[in-house]
Amino acid sequence: MSEAKSSLYEEALKPLKKAAAILNLESDVVEVLSNPEHILIVSIPVKMDDGKISVFTGYRVRHNTARGPAKGGIRYHPGVCLDEVKSLAFWMSIKNGVVGVPYGGGKGGITCNPKEMSQGELERLTRGYTAAIAKFVGPDQDIPAPDVGTNAQFMGWFADEYYKIAGAYVPGVITAKPLGIGGSRGRRTATGRGAFFATLEAAKTFNIPLKGTRVSIQGYGNVARPIAKCLHELGCKIVAVSDSVGGAYNPDGMHPIKLADFKTETRSVRGFPGSKEISTVDPITVDCDILIPAALENQITEKNADDVKAKLVVEEANGPTTPEADKILYEKGVVVVPDVLANAGGVTVSYFEWVQNRMGYYWSDEEVDDKLKQVMTNAFKDVYQTAKQRQIDTSFTMQPQLMDMRTAAYVTAVEKIVDAMRALGRI
Ligand code: NAD
Repeated sequence: MSEAKSSLYEEALKPLKKAAAILNLESDVVEVLSNPEHILIVSIPVKMDDGKISVFTGYRVRHNTARGPAKGGIRYHPGVCLDEVKSLAFWMSIKNGVVGVPYGGGKGGITCNPKEMSQGELERLTRGYTAAIAKFVGPDQDIPAPDVGTNAQFMGWFADEYYKIAGAYVPGVITAKPLGIGGSRGRRTATGRGAFFATLEAAKTFNIPLKGTRVSIQGYGNVARPIAKCLHELGCKIVAVSDSVGGAYNPDGMHPIKLADFKTETRSVRGFPGSKEISTVDPITVDCDILIPAALENQITEKNADDVKAKLVVEEANGPTTPEADKILYEKGVVVVPDVLANAGGVTVSYFEWVQNRMGYYWSDEEVDDKLKQVMTNAFKDVYQTAKQRQIDTSFTMQPQLMDMRTAAYVTAVEKIVDAMRALGRI
């Protein structure tokens, strides 16, 4: 009989268990951290453009709120399910702990295909979802933001619907809003920019030169484009990119802005002038120095990890590497900057937005960027120090120059969450 495949959430908890062992955490504390505090599942009836009603399923999960209100995005995708939303909420608790923003972890999503829906249908869906979860969100309770399939416009609809229900203008209820309604400067590019700062630190720490370095990116959406632009400006070559339709490869490098324009025009990077066509997953294994998974989870697996050629993997997507693949990469000597650190720039600038909303006073692009750089650089150094001090390089084959940065990131965050739970008397 074949072994039952473990769920994404079970896989997501594996690094927690490793961190718990290093921190000597009691098993009942691990049990508390392994279960989300609150799960909400809602049905959202939406009148479609043809006059018929479709009913969508929406989720909002709060993983842990010991360090502050829950914080995390809303995903619109056909694959959204409770298991995925639980995993994403858990990763948010860890991520917020890694960068030290005063939030717990939360996440939401709707099972739908936004690519097949009109703007009107998406607006009605978003307003319906907002009304269904309104009692459970708020600036001191749970603060959503965008994720795959949503953007600033969706946040604007969410805010408007929430204000009507709350009877008050409360911009801190949601982040990554358009600038004109209390969004922060720098938020649109924050995840990519934050991952760029983490890449700079990793390159410095692990002696990886950046000039002429070949970069491969899977996914070419919100988070991928800013890092592609920043690395290109530093002299790196973007040799491969892909999206849900297909991919493009050119060993001489491709211009990141032209790629983005081409994708906007044709809806895919596939067929980019001068490139060779590759598959959606090929960027994982092409010949390159830095690999940036920036699409969805479970893309680097035990099947392709051994074929990864990059020396550095910067995880912009959430959960792109399975635990089995993680082990293979480590043994191959590949440095992985884990998702909970690499893509934390988005939530960091969301935090800045929430702070600005509460003050009613707004910062310049430079102020936001300086603060983001400081947070990302410090977070990288904290995680690296944790790895060094606790010698978290013994779980796999010893390679003294390497650190298991993922376990170190989890140790850094879990320690803070557990301290907060103890201080509150919850454990
Ligand atoms: P997006 O929808 O803007 O972009 C996703 C990209 O991935 C698109 O180009 C899409 O075509 C591509 N894609 C989808 N399926 C694919 C596949 N099977 N193979 C190759 N490409 C595929 O989403 P985003 O906001 O850029 O988010 C990407 C990842 O980053 C997600 O894992 C998300 O959770 C994570 N993330 C996003 C933010 C944020 O601020 N938006 C913050 C932290 C983490």
